[in-house]
Amino acid sequence: MSGAAGAPLTIGVDVPWVTSWSGEQVTGVAPCPSVDGALAIGQAERPGEGRPMYSRNHLFRQRKSVREMRCPMCGEPTAEGDRWTQTGRWTTAGEIRAKGLGVWLPPEFPDDKPLLDAGSIAPLHRACAERALARCPHLKGLDDRELKAFPGAWIVAALSVEARPAHALANVPRKSAAAVSFLQLIGVPDHDAA
Ligand SMILES: [Zn+2]
Repeated sequence: MSGAAGAPLTIGVDVPWVTSWSGEQVTGVAPCPSVDGALAIGQAERPGEGRPMYSRNHLFRQRKSVREMRCPMCGEPTAEGDRWTQTGRWTTAGEIRAKGLGVWLPPEFPDDKPLLDAGSIAPLHRACAERALARCPHLKGLDDRELKAFPGAWIVAALSVEARPAHALANVPRKSAAAVSFLQLIGVPDHDAA
């Protein structure tokens, strides 16, 4: 795969590590190590095959980036003090609860507690965040270009979808189970990790 000018695309430089490629098919529901063996939607791992799908995160790499605090740009772990989010936005525990994600929050959090909702995008290294901002037209177009320091404590919420067999017989009831698609990351400021 090469870019418009014919130069090869480099993962981690031209294309974020977490981005899906068209050669990486979704494989269906299976126990996945990225969520401790729970059911999750899988996807073939063939980064670099086909063309990059910039608007779509790879399911497994996305979950891995959130669980292991890996930078979505380069795929390497981030250390406390070098975790930055541009797309994350400040919200409150009450807003998170109103979105139906309250089950993931400790009940003692008051509704006005500030939280940093990073969505499905784990924080980046500062150098990677600046490189992404310089290259990605979507990020450049955002009003809020401020890099926010990601807090030292966080909550991971699993976003699930109903999983059904692909070729279910119409008149035979099948058991369906919830399968994890993406993980959502919520930063908790001023929280002493026990
Ligand atoms: Zn990085």
